[in-house]
Formats: sequence, C-alpha cells, structure tokens
Amino acid sequence: MKRILEESDRLIMNTYNRFPVVFVKGRGTSLYTDDGKEFLDFVAGIAVNVLGHCHPRVVVAIQKQAQRLIHISNLYHIEPQIKLARMLVQHSFADRVFFCNSGAEAVEAAIKLARKYAKEHYDENRYEIITAQNSFHGRTFGAVTATGQERFHRGFEPLVPGFRYVPFDDISALKEAINERTCAVLLEPIQGEGGVRVPSEDYLKEVRELCDHNGILLILDEVQTGIGRTGRLFAYEHFGIKPDIMTLAKALGGGVPIGAMLATERVARSFTPGSHASTFGGNPLATRAALATLETVLEDGILIKECQRLGAYFMERLTELKKLYPELVVDIRGKGLMIGMELSVPCAQVVKECFEQGILINCTAERVLRFTPPLIVTEEEIDRVVKTLDEILGRLS
Ligand SMILES: *Cc1c(COP(=O)(O)O)cnc(C)c1O
Repeated sequence: MKRILEESDRLIMNTYNRFPVVFVKGRGTSLYTDDGKEFLDFVAGIAVNVLGHCHPRVVVAIQKQAQRLIHISNLYHIEPQIKLARMLVQHSFADRVFFCNSGAEAVEAAIKLARKYAKEHYDENRYEIITAQNSFHGRTFGAVTATGQERFHRGFEPLVPGFRYVPFDDISALKEAINERTCAVLLEPIQGEGGVRVPSEDYLKEVRELCDHNGILLILDEVQTGIGRTGRLFAYEHFGIKPDIMTLAKALGGGVPIGAMLATERVARSFTPGSHASTFGGNPLATRAALATLETVLEDGILIKECQRLGAYFMERLTELKKLYPELVVDIRGKGLMIGMELSVPCAQVVKECFEQGILINCTAERVLRFTPPLIVTEEEIDRVVKTLDEILGRLS
C-alpha cells in the first residue's frame, strides 16, 4: 500500500491533493480498497456516477459494445451515437448534438459555436462572452478563461481574449456588461465548484429576456447539474426557461468519459463540415454507455422522482444540523441531490474525519461541504452521513 502511494506520488503529475487510498472495486454507493475496507461514496466521482458504481445495465452495455465495435471515426455514422442524440433531443430543448469527451471540451465547442453564429448573423466584432464570477467551466484555455475565478488563471496568462465577468445572480450587473460586442452569456444554472450556489427564482428568466432582447445567445453549462442530478433531467427546467446551447458531461456516460454540446437548429446551423471535430467524440463505446445510463435515469421517471424526494429529505436532515450548530453551519442549499453545506470554517477537517469513518464527501470553495451521492442512495445512507456529521460538528463546536 505504502509503495503504491509513493509510486503514485513519483509518477503522476502533481495536480491533485489525493487521499491516501486506492479503490479497486465499486458497487452501488460503496467503494472498496484492496484490503476490503468499505467506503460510502457521497462524492460519486464529483457528480459522475449517477447510477452508483458498476450499475449492471451500464456494465452489460459496455461489455456487449466492446465485443462488437469499440471505435470508428466520425467519418462514418455511428449507431449508438445517433440513438443517444435522439434521446437527448427528445428530452430537451435541443435539435442537434455535438459529442466530445469531457466537460471542458463541451464548453469549448459551445464557445466556438456561439462565436461562429454571432459572426455570421451580426458582424466580426461580435465575439464577447459574458460569464459569472465564481463560475467553473473547465481547464482548457477557452473553458478556463470562461471560468470566473482568478486562482484558475494564475500562471497561464495570456488567456483567451473576449471574456467578461459579472457577479452571479445580479441582473443589473449583466445588463450593464452587455454591449454591441456581446455574443453570448454563459452560466451554470446552479454554480457547482463555486459552492453550490442556486440563483434567485427569477434570475435565469431575466437573463433569458435580456438575451432575447439583445440578440444574444444563452449558453447553460449543465456539465454538473445535468442528467437528473437536481431532481429534473436538466436544471434549466426548474427555472422555466430554455437555453440556446447546453453543455453536458459528468453524469452522461455513467462513468465513461463523454461530453456533449446541444443546440437549437437555428444556432447549430452555424457548424458545417470542418467547423469542429473530435477523434473520439461520440465513439460507439462511450455513447453506448451513455445510452444505457440515460435510459436507466429516465425509466418511468422513478430515479428523478427519488432524487427530488431524497434531496428534500437530506436537506431537511442537514437543516436540523444547522439548528444544532448555528455557529458552524452558515447555510444549506441546493436542488435534488446536489447539496452544499456552507460552514463558518474551512471544511477540510470535516472531510478528513468523514474519510476516517469510511465516508467520502467533498469540499468546494474552501468552506462548502458538497454532497453529490448517486441517485440510487437510500434514506439509511443519508442518515448515516448526517449522524457522522453530527458527531464531527459536535466535537468541533
Ligand atoms: C466539471 C465541470 C466542467 C469541466 O468538466 P471536465 O470534464 O473536468 O472537463 C465544466 N463545467 C462545469 C459546470 C463543471 O462542473
């Protein structure tokens, strides 16, 4: 064990502060180490494993597809890619899909499509994209520039030109930032990495109106919120609006890397052969896994309803903790099973103590405990996490 960790530290680029553990097996909400220790997983690969680990439907889909066909180029039509696109289009605002391999790539595709659309429909100078402070859109150059947090920019300048940042959930700031160069507004419907920040009820509706009024595209980054996570298939459904472009990744493949950028027909028309491409994007293996994941998430709407019910239950239980420890717990917020618990102190210690008790939770924005369990989580598992947090917070207060 010690040797593996040393080797990992020596061979892998030093871009993560990892926990001293190697997981070798997963089932449902559980992860197992080599020596058989079990962990309850409320991180789920950061909102990736919606169906838990190694869901049988996803496993069988991958096995079958691996035996038939793993990869062919997008020079040819790909059967599971078409089926997945059909399902995404049927259940969303969108008419067309571009497939890629990650969230950042989906954001890059969205930025490129928005710029191309604006140049074609308006003029050469219409290329600016407005994003939110505290946002997160990924680590490639376009996506990291779109990310409204300086700590992700430092050391990598010069960044991509043509981005502006406004405070999230502040419609007048957005109104002021819009000018004749603005081509798109790019937002997470609920900020994830920024600390699970849910905007006020009417914000996105007002953003939509502003965009429509000024001929500006609305891009929603649903890489984290998409595929049932918030108690709707897509988070935009909570807010009574539709975007022009949407990005997906994280949960889409049930653990297999895949990203997607969806758009209306009117906007998608600006991409023509040669505009954009991805070697692996939408390959048979990844799209088959995503198809199995999406079919399972959508089946009879049961999982999404469960996500609403369990999310409400979890929020209620966490709110009890807030009442018990008002000096430590500042806020509980979120939707469905994307929940943040803001503390008055850095949360690293709480995460560490949970880890020692065999529970995986995540900390984001330094003081926000983030819970993104698989949608197949049970009330008993939620109770166990709440009880453990109760003990830890009790010791801290
Ligand atoms: C995680 C995330 C990304 C980046 O996804 P990667 O697959 O890591 O590139 C982009 N946008 C949002 C909202 C995310 O949560």
